Amino acid sequence: MKTKTLSELKPIYDTHISATYLRYPVAFHRGGGCRLYSPEGKEYIDFASGIGVSSVGHSHPKWLNAVNQQAALLTHVSNLYYTEPGAVLAEKLCQISGMKGVFFSNSGAESVEGAIKVARKYSHDKYGGGRHTILTLQNSFHGRTMAALTATGQPEKFHKDYFYPFVQGFEYVPANDFAAMEAYDKGTVCAVIIELVQGEGGVLPLCGEYVKNVAALCQKNDWLLIADEVQTGIGRVGHWFAYQNYGIMPDVVPFAKGIAGGLPFGGFLLGEKVRNTLGAGDHGTTYGANLVCAAAALAVLEILEPILPSIKEKGEYICEKIQAMNLPCVKEIRAKGLMLGVQLHGITPAHAVTALLENGLVALSAGADVLRFLPPLVIEKKDIDDGLAIMEKTLDKLQK
Ligand SMILES: *Cc1c(COP(=O)(O)O)cnc(C)c1O
Repeated sequence: MKTKTLSELKPIYDTHISATYLRYPVAFHRGGGCRLYSPEGKEYIDFASGIGVSSVGHSHPKWLNAVNQQAALLTHVSNLYYTEPGAVLAEKLCQISGMKGVFFSNSGAESVEGAIKVARKYSHDKYGGGRHTILTLQNSFHGRTMAALTATGQPEKFHKDYFYPFVQGFEYVPANDFAAMEAYDKGTVCAVIIELVQGEGGVLPLCGEYVKNVAALCQKNDWLLIADEVQTGIGRVGHWFAYQNYGIMPDVVPFAKGIAGGLPFGGFLLGEKVRNTLGAGDHGTTYGANLVCAAAALAVLEILEPILPSIKEKGEYICEKIQAMNLPCVKEIRAKGLMLGVQLHGITPAHAVTALLENGLVALSAGADVLRFLPPLVIEKKDIDDGLAIMEKTLDKLQK
């Protein structure tokens, strides 16, 4: 089949694909390492990883081999039976996270939904009804399904009138304001959900002191602490999970995005307290622990393990190089490992991303004024330098 170009794809999208996304005028056809190629043959450096997903780049040989081998052996049988890749992965995830159990699902939102169910059931088992409120932070993002959307603390952007009614039992508190959370009615709360670095909200790391206080408050009141690590997890911030950087131990940890290097996969980790909260029939999903996804995830962990310490260094290197550009349109740079936010001044992020694409760099936006980079975690100096050279040239031209 002849490869379709952007001008052939666009009308098909316009006719047949739900218009939920405003797309950039670029099609991608092929990838290799940290580079992407359009059907027209143009090359791009990937500083986006498909929103933090392609953590080992594109077509990494080890990942590819794991996927091919598993697909040839067996892809899917459902959770009604025992299979090996999910079992080995569960052991490995518990070992690297210090958590005690895992439920596998297929996306971030689905993983957040499961975490919410764990919190509600844990509280009901122990205290009976009425203690069902989940405290969530303003400016957070937890996904697009109904409960995850309700948990998302950006009402103007996400809680559209036409989707009402939302799920009951969520309350919003400002991030980094411990007094506001502490003052919260203790009788009805069962859990707190946080992103340690608010990703979609603008790459905003929570402050360490605040996070420690929140963890202690949760402990004291027997509220579950749900750390949504869908974006921050699986090495993105230079640790397997961001909570390891903050020195806390959450109870439930939804993860997804980077786990399987591009295949739809996710899940939530369970701490000691909630290891056995969900029993037979309490939760489920048809595709969970899909064998190819689990095998891909194992390959991702194997590829990342030796390079984990380098992720922070790469993030710092990028930060320093951007600082040294001295661009007036750059207001602030925030980095946690390879999760980077460049706060812009005088240029909208959408405008910047469009211009960067034109010049061969794939980047993302976040919040109202942030240019976001989530490069593959395997990225090397040459691709970083080439990408940053495009950034410098593009932003310098835009700000004039
Ligand atoms: C992306 C994201 C989600 C939603 O993940 P999907 O796979 O798109 O459902 C949830 N939480 C956080 C923190 C995210 O970054």
